[in-house]
Amino acid sequence: MVIGESKPLAEILDMIKDFKKIVVAGCKGCVTVCNVGGEKEVAILASELRIARKAAGNNLDVKEYTCERQCDPEYIEPLDDLVADADAVVSIACSVGPQYVTARYPYLHVFPGINTTSIGGAVEHGVWKEFCQACGSCVIGEYGGLCPIARCAKQLLNGPCGGSSGGICEVGKGSIPCIWHLIYDRMKNLGQLHKMTEVKLYKNWSTSRDGGLRTSIREELKQ
Ligand code: SF4
Ligand code: SF4
Repeated sequence: MVIGESKPLAEILDMIKDFKKIVVAGCKGCVTVCNVGGEKEVAILASELRIARKAAGNNLDVKEYTCERQCDPEYIEPLDDLVADADAVVSIACSVGPQYVTARYPYLHVFPGINTTSIGGAVEHGVWKEFCQACGSCVIGEYGGLCPIARCAKQLLNGPCGGSSGGICEVGKGSIPCIWHLIYDRMKNLGQLHKMTEVKLYKNWSTSRDGGLRTSIREELKQ
């Protein structure tokens, strides 16, 4: 899932300081699961903005809506009536959402209410970690199902680096497991340790983000 974190309220207030009527738009997808952009967070942010602006003597009219998904034009459509009368939208979907809102309402100001941080998952209640950097050419099959791109600080394809201690990465002040330690344990459990002596000379990086805007096409789904 896509993981995000709420922007500081002061930053959002500053973005909308020139406006009187806004819509706070959430999303029922990933950002609901990581508790930053669902219905509940829309209601909280809308209240916080109203209260802050009232306290500043500059009342703000805030409407609220949470899309089924903000990364899909058909689910943004219900915003049409709400934004007709608004100056701006604060989107608390992942950063794809506000760009779809921008595309649908080219005359409206659109601001992100969250910082999109990574692709990952929950590791305990209230804690999410990055598991993938969307390199576009997945190699985890060669590493026991674990990703050395997202989870090794040095993105080593032939690790470990020699800096780990007791299974902990030398980067991160003792807070990050060395993924190469975990890859070793995993390969050992699979009886595949010999594969760790095979040097990986390269990886296909042409599919990664440095190659420019990426597009995925499924011809059988196109109409
Ligand atoms: S190898 Fe690439 S696609 Fe696979 S998990 Fe790692 S970053 Fe993601
Ligand atoms: S200690 Fe392990 S995870 Fe950290 S940089 Fe070295 S190989 Fe990568």
